[in-house]
Amino acid sequence: MDDYEDLPHEALDDPFKPPHPPRKVRCLHCDQTYMSSLMKWQGGLWRCGIPGCDGAGYGFDVFDADGHMFAEEDEEEFDFDGEFDLDIDLESTEE
Ligand SMILES: [Zn+2]
Repeated sequence: MDDYEDLPHEALDDPFKPPHPPRKVRCLHCDQTYMSSLMKWQGGLWRCGIPGCDGAGYGFDVFDADGHMFAEEDEEEFDFDGEFDLDIDLESTEE
């Protein structure tokens, strides 16, 4: 089940090698989200898995889809209802 076995050493040593096991990644060039296992070793680079995209390199053009790189965009629902937990009881501050 290890797709990496067929790859040349340079591919496995490449610092921009996709993660193993594969995880959901997103490409800065094509803005697509996909499994990193789609990335292909081609011409000495780990290419984006989307056909026709010139993005390359996990950690270079391709990042974890749920990483902080994309946090601002993906987290529309900020779980904060506007109420701090400041239940200061002004009448009983003195013991
Ligand atoms: Zn891409």
